[in-house]
Amino acid sequence: MSSNPFEQPGRFFKGNLHTHSNTSDGQLSADEVCSRYRERGYDFLCLSDHFLPVYDFPVTDTRPFRTDSFTTILGAEMHVPATALGEKWHLLANGLPIDFAPPHEAESAPEIAARCAAAGAFVSIVHPAWYSLGVDDARSIEAAHAIEVYNHTSAIKTDRGDGTVLLDQMLALGHRLNALACDDAHFELDDAFGAWVMVRATERSPESLLAALKSGHYYSSTGVELHGIHFDGDEVVVDCSPATGIYLQGKGSREVHAIGHGLTQARLPAYKLGKQGFMRLTVVDARGRRAWSNPFWREG
Ligand SMILES: [Zn+2]
Ligand SMILES: [Zn+2]
Repeated sequence: MSSNPFEQPGRFFKGNLHTHSNTSDGQLSADEVCSRYRERGYDFLCLSDHFLPVYDFPVTDTRPFRTDSFTTILGAEMHVPATALGEKWHLLANGLPIDFAPPHEAESAPEIAARCAAAGAFVSIVHPAWYSLGVDDARSIEAAHAIEVYNHTSAIKTDRGDGTVLLDQMLALGHRLNALACDDAHFELDDAFGAWVMVRATERSPESLLAALKSGHYYSSTGVELHGIHFDGDEVVVDCSPATGIYLQGKGSREVHAIGHGLTQARLPAYKLGKQGFMRLTVVDARGRRAWSNPFWREG
């Protein structure tokens, strides 16, 4: 279980990996967006402006806004034609060089995702429900590291913020993808500070955070805290902030749960999910806030 963040050295750093400034279609300057997240106590932020010709293919330079207690990851949101429904793709690339080259003519989504990953980026398929992205589309992005299970802006604006169905379908097919929860804030609505990642790393540097992200050493949250996940024989033991539901989810309909009031620990019988494949945890609290672990894989 080497992907368990609770078995890694270091501490958790809080960050948002998907945000926009007025370098593309956000309402605030890069400086102002960074200030707001920094003042809110975040450890890091990625401004992921839209990598489109109309904005001159920006990788927004947030390096001037780093401080001793706040860092930034350079990145962008990639858009090339076309999904099965004929829309431009949305792919998040966290950890790009500042001079990442614009898409070459006819560059496809799998190709630009691979180029981002080769340049060092952590690549995610974002807000799939927002534009009805299907499994065949997702399967084509072989370079992807993660799927957004929650996009706060899509939830607020379109009630299509949930990406867990696509993640579970991909996991059932054997794709080793992680989960990701993000704001995708544009500061057009009250769309910031709603979803983040907690990354386990030994230092708050972009390099260390990116390495941890690519290794799956993090969890995602909209307000629930995970305090521990460990495997005790055939059981998974979860410690968390007070919850009303703690769920261990596997292939298809496989699932075990603990439901109650103010639950801060659950011991879940992992063997009921079978001997092979993935399992992942979701914890829900009385306000409907969540935390999502990344999947754990059993070789069996
Ligand atoms: Zn998008
Ligand atoms: Zn976006």
